[in-house]
Amino acid sequence: MKQEIHGKILKALHEMADSQYVFFYDYETEMVQWSVEAAEFFGFPHEPTAHFLYTLMNMVHPADREPCGAELIRVLQHKQDSFYKSYHMKNAEGKYLLCRGKGKVYCDDDGNPAVFAGTVSLCDEEVSYDSVSGLQTVNGFCNTIHRYNETDRDYMVLAVEIHHFHDVNALYGYDFGNKVLYQLSNIFRDLTIGSELGHVYRIEGTTFAFVIKGHDLEIVKGLYERIRKLTSHFNADEATINMDIIGTVWYTKEKRTDPQAILSALISVIERSKANDTYELVVYDDAMKATMSQSLELLNTIKNSIRRNCEGFFLCYQPFVSTLSGKVIGAEALIRWKSEEYGVVGPYRFIPYLESNPCFYDLGIWIIRQAVSDAKKIREKCPNFFVNVNMSYSQIQRPGFKEEVVAILDEMEFPRDALQLELTERCRNLDLKFLQQQLQFFRENGVKIALDDFGTGTSTIELLCNLPVDCVKIDQSYIINILEQENNKVIVDATMQCTRRLGIDVCLEGVENEEIRTFVEQYSANYHQGYFYARPVVYDEFIQYLDKSWQRERINVIRENGRSRFDVSNILAMIPGGFFMYMASGDERITCANEALLKMFECKNADEFYELTGNTFKGIVHPDDYEKVEACIKNQITRSEDKLDYVKYRIITRTGKVKWVNDYGHLVKNEHDEDVFYVFLGDSRRRAEEAL
Ligand code: C2E
Ligand code: CA
Ligand code: CA
Repeated sequence: MKQEIHGKILKALHEMADSQYVFFYDYETEMVQWSVEAAEFFGFPHEPTAHFLYTLMNMVHPADREPCGAELIRVLQHKQDSFYKSYHMKNAEGKYLLCRGKGKVYCDDDGNPAVFAGTVSLCDEEVSYDSVSGLQTVNGFCNTIHRYNETDRDYMVLAVEIHHFHDVNALYGYDFGNKVLYQLSNIFRDLTIGSELGHVYRIEGTTFAFVIKGHDLEIVKGLYERIRKLTSHFNADEATINMDIIGTVWYTKEKRTDPQAILSALISVIERSKANDTYELVVYDDAMKATMSQSLELLNTIKNSIRRNCEGFFLCYQPFVSTLSGKVIGAEALIRWKSEEYGVVGPYRFIPYLESNPCFYDLGIWIIRQAVSDAKKIREKCPNFFVNVNMSYSQIQRPGFKEEVVAILDEMEFPRDALQLELTERCRNLDLKFLQQQLQFFRENGVKIALDDFGTGTSTIELLCNLPVDCVKIDQSYIINILEQENNKVIVDATMQCTRRLGIDVCLEGVENEEIRTFVEQYSANYHQGYFYARPVVYDEFIQYLDKSWQRERINVIRENGRSRFDVSNILAMIPGGFFMYMASGDERITCANEALLKMFECKNADEFYELTGNTFKGIVHPDDYEKVEACIKNQITRSEDKLDYVKYRIITRTGKVKWVNDYGHLVKNEHDEDVFYVFLGDSRRRAEEAL
């Protein structure tokens, strides 16, 4: 009777188990029974037989006997609950084939082992096993999906990526990383194959795919939660490592999708989650599929545009405003793409998904060329103008990129130090040594580097101290909410102190409105950027904005007893460096000088400063630098249009000390239409001295 039931169960199991060969071992009778198909294919007895271990081992290839036998003995002695092994086994014709045996022990109500049931399946020789994880690779995944599609079965696919796994490799070494992957893979196998939920495959690197039977989303959610918990505190060799996972589940009603199409859809969702820092499980259902296919279409169209000489791309410029002069002194180039069908498409919609694509390199070069060509035109009007260009991790990783940048600048006859490359957030995941080398090359060749989005991501202070950068851009997320968030103030404060010590310039991003501008003045950053000044605009609009910024202002000259006094109190209050002014024509005396300037020249008051200058710059400029400064002033006075000139020279203080200063001279008209100079001086070593 029992035997008859066993026979029926075996038949059912065989049908359910995708034509795998099924067996059944009874702990009580110590007999094993193979399904009819198994008995025929391998030549096992058709009747229940004793000596399970012996008959099986007789057919397993001698090289596989020991590991396979040891595991089976543990199961038969009920020292373990499941069996999972690959081995070579003879078929009825005596030919060894690669097989995979799986089995599970079922206990009775008292917890005693009752039966051990399982399957033997033939492994497609084409299916390859990954040597690190021991899991099947993408071939195996495709075979399974094909098989499920053919037999019209329901399934879901959960794709999981371990985020920033390179940190584990970097911290503990590659061997350790591999060990972790191996251990994780074993657990993944237990969670799926072991609990009969489905199968797991290592797709690439740290991306795994779980094919889960049925169509119950809760099962996948539960599995994802378990994996997340497990990886967030993973114990390996006495080290606890914390890994983040990103996941998405293929949960569509659509049947018979090609396995490669499933994978590429899931991987693009993972890329998207990575770009947005999303760790929640994303459900790829029919609705998502529709929107994704739209955006995939957009990405494809954009990719094709890159191939057509970057057709449809254009740059917008957002000003860098100098806090010293309140003037536009540079700009960041920001990419956009436009087409009739899609309108203007912003970078957030394509950069994160395309920057790892090889075609992005050409776009990156196009951006640099375009920005340099525009900036070159601007520099004819505004000689010290510089342009910032964002740099993706894929660009800096590409051998020859840095040399190409320098060659482009030279070919276009653009001063190397008027280009500043912004190291965007994701570049900072690159190996520190590698980054140092690349940035050092730029430094040695005069190209400037800014750390973009400072404060986001990890270990940023460490990067600041270890990378040769010229400027730090504090991320807008700190500035936009600075009025409300105490924490932000602390972070900005600390960053300012740190950069000042290191002699690095600072740009505050996200200065969105007047209130924020007023508040952040206290930090004395070098530049501001944000909607308060201007949104990113196209070249022509930017030029208009620039012209307005540099328009000759009228300021009031108050004349008393033959002396001129300028009503510039509000300008004075804004300027952390020194400030003074004098008449460029006529012999008006100047008495305007702010506190910082007096300190710089070691003068007690404006009169003392006047004595020192004698109304000519010669009184304060180091004799070796006369020529340079004189040429600069002449140049400025004789020019009809308004320009800010920048010159660096030495001054001599009242007590005879020599100091280097940065001088920004600017010509204005007073109400009598006379030319007046105002000059901002900054001690070029001020920060270095403060640090001492
Ligand atoms: P990002 O480099 O941080 O650029 C600043 C972004 O913040 C710009 O968005 C700008 O429009 C926006 N922004 C500026 N001021 C304010 C403000 O006061 N408030 C707010 N809320 N936002 C402000 P955009 O142009 O959409 O650029 C987005 C990101 O795309 C950039 O962030 C950058 O990472 C990337 N990107 C843009 N152009 C390029 C490029 O040419 N190459 C590369 N690799 N990445 C680029
Ligand atoms: Ca940027
Ligand atoms: Ca930024």
